[in-house]
Amino acid sequence: MRRRDVLHLGLSEATVRYRDSDEVDFVIVGSGAAGGVLARELSLAGFSVVVLEQGPRLGEADFKHDEYAYWFQWEIAADPARNPQTFRTSEREEARVRPRVPPAIYARLVGGSSVHFTANFWRLHPVDFVEGTLWSGVEGASLVDWPITYQELEPY
Ligand SMILES: Cc1cc2nc3c(=O)[nH]c(=O)nc-3n(C[C@H](O)[C@H](O)[C@H](O)COP(=O)(O)OP(=O)(O)OC[C@H]3O[C@@H](n4cnc5c(N)ncnc54)[C@H](O)[C@@H]3O)c2cc1C
Repeated sequence: MRRRDVLHLGLSEATVRYRDSDEVDFVIVGSGAAGGVLARELSLAGFSVVVLEQGPRLGEADFKHDEYAYWFQWEIAADPARNPQTFRTSEREEARVRPRVPPAIYARLVGGSSVHFTANFWRLHPVDFVEGTLWSGVEGASLVDWPITYQELEPY
């Protein structure tokens, strides 16, 4: 079966397993909205791709409607006690664990945060696409413009 055929089957059939000794074109860390989409596009373009995901694969029946447990008790988000994140503001500093809230709060599962999130999608403004140009020269920031404009996206 060709890779493209495999990818058009369901998720479990589409999973290709590699041996530790196999060389692949891309290794992506994290299967969220960014990593997952990138992995799919690269696979469809014919590249061999491995996605590393630290969290479990959950199905529809595994979820419950309990924001307190998921968000405040870290049931789905990365628990800072079990998953401490270090943070520093410059290369000169030593990265340290933050005492209270971790720098990045995200869901830890196959599919990442987008699998179980609030789904507020506020409409972007034209200026949001050109923040890099607008604010150019912010020291230490890696702000860039979007590769597309508001006008190009608007019809969708
Ligand atoms: C509860 C909640 C509600 C939200 N509500 C909204 C909303 O209403 N509107 C909105 O626009 N956005 C919302 N967001 C934010 C939105 O979901 C995220 O911005 C988006 O999903 C981020 O996508 P991502 O691919 O960058 O990261 P994620 O989807 O977070 O994916 C990162 C993945 O990488 C994995 N990972 C991280 N480190 C490692 C490692 N070292 N090894 C292996 N795997 C690793 C994680 O387990 C995770 O699966 C919400 C987020 C949460 C958690």
